[in-house]
Amino acid sequence: MIDNSRLLAAPIPTVDSLPFWEAAKEGRFLVKRCSACDKAHWYPRPTCPFCFSSETQWQAGLGSGVIYSFSVMRHAKPPYVVAFVTLDEGPTMLSNIVDCDPETLAIGQAVCLLFKPSDGEFPVPVFTPVQP
Ligand SMILES: [Zn+2]
Repeated sequence: MIDNSRLLAAPIPTVDSLPFWEAAKEGRFLVKRCSACDKAHWYPRPTCPFCFSSETQWQAGLGSGVIYSFSVMRHAKPPYVVAFVTLDEGPTMLSNIVDCDPETLAIGQAVCLLFKPSDGEFPVPVFTPVQP
């Protein structure tokens, strides 16, 4: 099992990402979606990366996805897992997989989002395997 005593580095919000982090403090996961092309994107930004429209809106994220790729940082003390997770909304985000045995992880595995405390004001979105 991963030792979750590793405290994550505090995010540094920008003007554009502050609503995301404020929601995270309340345990809510937000995703940006473009009203012009209807695609969700990550990371949150004011201009759609697909069609360059500025008509982007915050919406409640599903908090579910699958592992696209991952790497176990075995030499770290304690070890931890870095992963790209493809959200069910479509975008892929870089995060950590926590509360798991790294040896049991697999590409394509279903994961769900949770927030872990950071060493600053805002919690950090991470993922854990969905229990069958
Ligand atoms: Zn768009």
